[in-house]
Amino acid sequence: MSNRWEQLQTGDREAVWHPYSPSTAKELFPVIRAEGVRLQLADERQLIDGMSSWWCAIHGYNHPVLNDAVKTQLDEMSHVMFGGLTHPPAVALARLLVDITPSELTRVFFSDSGSVAVEVAIKMAVQFWHGIGKPRKRKLVALRNAYHGDTYGAMSLCDPVTGMHHLFGDTLTQQLFAPQPACRFEEKYDAQHLQSMSDLLTAQADDIAAVIVEPVVQGAGGMYFYAPEYLVHLQALCAQHDVLLIFDEIATGFGRTGKLFAMEHAGVTPDIVCLGKALTGGYMTLAATLCNDKICSGIDRSETGAFMHGPTFMANPLACAAAIASIKLLLSHPWQRRLKEIEKNLFDGLEPARELGSVTDVRVLGGIGVIELNSPVDMAKVQPLFVEQGVWVRPFGKLVYTMPAYVMNSDDVATLTSAMVNVVAQIQ
Ligand SMILES: *Cc1c(COP(=O)(O)O)cnc(C)c1O
Repeated sequence: MSNRWEQLQTGDREAVWHPYSPSTAKELFPVIRAEGVRLQLADERQLIDGMSSWWCAIHGYNHPVLNDAVKTQLDEMSHVMFGGLTHPPAVALARLLVDITPSELTRVFFSDSGSVAVEVAIKMAVQFWHGIGKPRKRKLVALRNAYHGDTYGAMSLCDPVTGMHHLFGDTLTQQLFAPQPACRFEEKYDAQHLQSMSDLLTAQADDIAAVIVEPVVQGAGGMYFYAPEYLVHLQALCAQHDVLLIFDEIATGFGRTGKLFAMEHAGVTPDIVCLGKALTGGYMTLAATLCNDKICSGIDRSETGAFMHGPTFMANPLACAAAIASIKLLLSHPWQRRLKEIEKNLFDGLEPARELGSVTDVRVLGGIGVIELNSPVDMAKVQPLFVEQGVWVRPFGKLVYTMPAYVMNSDDVATLTSAMVNVVAQIQ
């Protein structure tokens, strides 16, 4: 082990806390540089990154175009408050987001992270009903196995069992839950699949502000892909019961599922959309909540006449500059064709895992590849096995999954997927 490796590990152990970890995380791998789809560890090793840093780094790391955009903006201004002031990167990015999303979405509220974008969506929905004189409507309906973030409001919308509800108990807002859509991506929708949701809305619509879902792909709650047609009927149901519809596209946005936004699979535009993760190509933390004119005018009519939210680092110019560069870079390439190739590569590479006894399902959609096992993996055992194979894959629960950068070539995807199959075979 190199000196640097040891120093970083020791330093980390002394003062750093990692996500979903005990205060002293055991096995950490120090990264000192990242380039393209490779992570350079603090020793000689390089790993092919199968995670895109949690869906974000869609163009790979250290991309010259994104680097330039941030450096250029840095010399102009790195930050300025957003109350009473505006600036070119915010104006250009808002315009761009309005242009690339369905035409009904006309206004953009920036915030600092995905979870906060969800908080903003919740507050928009609640304040909207206040504005139009129905303040009783303030509960949200989410789906089982949903994941919407880690802050309090967002956490109240995560699956009550697989989420953290029991731990935080009655400190969380009590929301309502409907079953996960039973129709898998390739299956046909049946009216029965929305029966519980329909019953819930019929009984309680007077208290319900909005339904929130991750369109087509439920991410951190189980990497589950469901039939887009479900969303068509969900939207009709919401309209029938005078309930708003919110799509959390934080994981699915910017091409990941093969469409620019997952809602395009269904041709459905909700009232509010949350964006984050790949928004800046993985360069900086930034999120956005988009809404339609109806939401804007309802909130404008509320008691305060203003939407009551405003983060310190709202519309950070550096992050906006990275986002503009990332979106333009994406759209300047034949990205749909690339995603189709990656989808095929992932399918070919992961399909052999189906033969393994511990594997219950293998599924691929766009740039997402999933091997589902019959029991949770032992992370302490599995993480070093992936590193030995030269790849960075971080499973959770029963899921060994990947969402590579769109720039990953077929050879690297093949190395990545065969490492995944090998490791799953080893731990059976
Ligand atoms: C990651 C994620 C969030 C939370 O975003 P953060 O930036 O981690 O706060 C919310 N919703 C979905 C669907 C996500 O995948």
